[in-house]
Amino acid sequence: MTTTVTRTPAVTRRLTGFQPTGRLHLGNLLGALRPLIAAQDTTESIALIADLHAMTMEHDPSAVRRSTLEQATVMLAAGVDPERTPIVVQSQVREHTELHYLLECVAAHGEAARMIQFKEKSAAGGPIRLSLLTYPVLMAADILLYDTTQVPVGEDQNQHLELARTLAIRFNSRYGPTFTVPEGVRPESAARIMDLAEPSTKMGKSTGTGRIGLLDPPEVIRRTIARAATDPIGLVRRDRENQPGVTNLIGILAELTGREPSDAISYAALKREVTDAVEAVVAPIRARHAEFAADPDFVRGVLAAGAGKVRPTAAATMSRARRGIGLLD
Ligand code: AMP
Repeated sequence: MTTTVTRTPAVTRRLTGFQPTGRLHLGNLLGALRPLIAAQDTTESIALIADLHAMTMEHDPSAVRRSTLEQATVMLAAGVDPERTPIVVQSQVREHTELHYLLECVAAHGEAARMIQFKEKSAAGGPIRLSLLTYPVLMAADILLYDTTQVPVGEDQNQHLELARTLAIRFNSRYGPTFTVPEGVRPESAARIMDLAEPSTKMGKSTGTGRIGLLDPPEVIRRTIARAATDPIGLVRRDRENQPGVTNLIGILAELTGREPSDAISYAALKREVTDAVEAVVAPIRARHAEFAADPDFVRGVLAAGAGKVRPTAAATMSRARRGIGLLD
C-alpha cells in the first residue's frame, strides 16, 4: 500500500484534451467527444483545446488560431454543453504555463527524453523544438491544475499520464499535499477508429485520404468510404489481423448504429450502410456547425466563459504549488 500525501477531491473531474493541429474527425467524435458528451450528466468534465501543444512542431500561426475556434465550434455543434462542460483554451488560462515551469523543477531531463512520442516525432528530422521535449510536463500541468481525478487515455498517451502521476506524487511528497493524483480511464466506448485508406494506422488529424472529417461534405464522405481499403477475402467479419479494413468498417457501423452488419452482405453494401450511418450522425453536426460558425463572437464568448469558470480552481492550485515550492505568496 502506498501512503502518498495527496489531495482527495470531493468530485470526479475528467479532463479531455484536443490539440488544434487540424480538423476534428470521426475518430475524435467516437473516441473522445461522444464519451465526453455521454458523461455530462454524471461527471464534471473539462474540454481542453491545447493550443500550446500545437506549437511543439513547426506550425502556421493563423492555422492554429483558426483550428482552435473551429474545434470549439464543432464541439458545440456535436453537443458539448458549455454550461456543464466548460470548453477551455489552454493559453487563455495563464496558470497552465506557470505550473508547467514549477513542474519542470521536479521533473528530470531523462524522464522527458524517454517519451516514445518525443523519440518518434524528433526522429522525423529537421530542427527539434525544445517544447517538443518538455510538452509532456505541460500536459501534466494541464491535468494537475484542475484537481482532475480521471483522464481518458488511449494507449499512446499512457506514458504521459504516468509522468503526470509521478510528478504529482513527487511534488506532494517533497512539498506537501498540493495535487490530486489522477487515474487513467479507458473511454466508455473503446472505439479506436482506423484510417480508411490505411487501416493499420489510427485515423488522425493529419492522416491523408482515409480520414472522415466531421465537416466534410456528403460527397467527400461517400467517396472516402467507397475507396476504403478492404481485402480479397470477401467475408464481412471482424478479423483485425487479416481484414483490418473490413473490421474497421464494421466497428464504425457498430459504434454509430449499435448493430453489427449481416455477414451475408457484399463489401459494397457494407460501405453503403457505413456511409448512411456516418451521414446520419454527421449531417446534424454540419448543420449546427454552420449556425455557430456564423456567430464567432458567440463562440469566443463561450471560450471566455469556460476559462472564467475554471480559473478559480487553477488559481487555487497555483497558490498551493507556489507556497509549497518556496515562492512568496
Ligand atoms: P487528438 O486528435 O490527438 O488531439 O486527440 C483528441 C482526442 O481524440 C483524444 O482523446 C484521442 O484519444 C481521441 N482520438 C484521436 N484519434 C482517434 C481515433 N482514430 N480513434 C479514436 N479516438 C481518437
